[in-house]
Amino acid sequence: MNYALVTGGSRGIGRAVCTQLAGMGYFVLINYQSNDEEAEKTLQLVRDQGGDGELLKFDITDAAAAFATLSAWMEGHAGAYIEVLINNAGIRKDNLMLWMTGEEWTRVLDTSLNGFFHVTQPLLKNMLVKRFGRIVNIVSLSGIKGTAGQTNYSASKGGIIAATKALAQEVAKKNVTVNAIAPGFIRTDMTEDMNEAEWKKVIPAGRFGEPEEVAALVGFLVSPAAGYITGEVISINGGLYT
Ligand code: NDP
Repeated sequence: MNYALVTGGSRGIGRAVCTQLAGMGYFVLINYQSNDEEAEKTLQLVRDQGGDGELLKFDITDAAAAFATLSAWMEGHAGAYIEVLINNAGIRKDNLMLWMTGEEWTRVLDTSLNGFFHVTQPLLKNMLVKRFGRIVNIVSLSGIKGTAGQTNYSASKGGIIAATKALAQEVAKKNVTVNAIAPGFIRTDMTEDMNEAEWKKVIPAGRFGEPEEVAALVGFLVSPAAGYITGEVISINGGLYT
């Protein structure tokens, strides 16, 4: 059995990634924070693909919870390991810097940037020992170019981009690749409050992207064909300048 973990797998891009990986034969560990109902729907979609998976509920901002849950999983699956990790969970708490609260800053950094560390660090050793691993970090156009009103979000995604490049160099010899995917506007709950009709005027492709389009790119990056791609940030944004 080959195992993959997707953080934030209950909805949006994470859900599409779970079904993509299930279709590729992975047993999918679906992490999420609180939305049991949507997480169950993802698990059903995974099973509809002919695959299987399980829910792994924990808050990735909580280092102790992440460590305890992942350690318990590893102890319960001696001989197996999680070879694919998709760091996807993320949140927005937009505000102009002038008005931004400490809570808005910290919560966004805790989720994307610290969450990346809390989940990746415990899983890395097995990937190195087994000499195979695939880590894909879902970042954002904001982490490349910066977006006004999102200094917290841009900083968190920019931080993961730098971490992706650094970690890729540490682990490349062990056949572990680390890449980032930077989506533009993708149709999910996160972009629900955005005026698509207005925004699509500035997107060369003239539309928002679909979660499945991001998931297809994840599928390629974890496949054997992508074994020589590491430390990269790949944009998927309908032609927006990055
Ligand atoms: P959604 O808001 O649709 O889903 C967010 C997911 O993250 C949910 O599964 C949620 O779980 C989970 N999550 C949030 N916080 C935590 C936490 N502390 N611990 C565990 N899970 C958590 O987001 P999207 O699918 O739109 O975004 C996915 C990723 O893609 C994010 O990193 C986002 O920044 C990035 N992205 C999205 C873009 C877009 O246009 N949609 C553009 C660029 C990047 P629960 O259901 O339990 O709340």
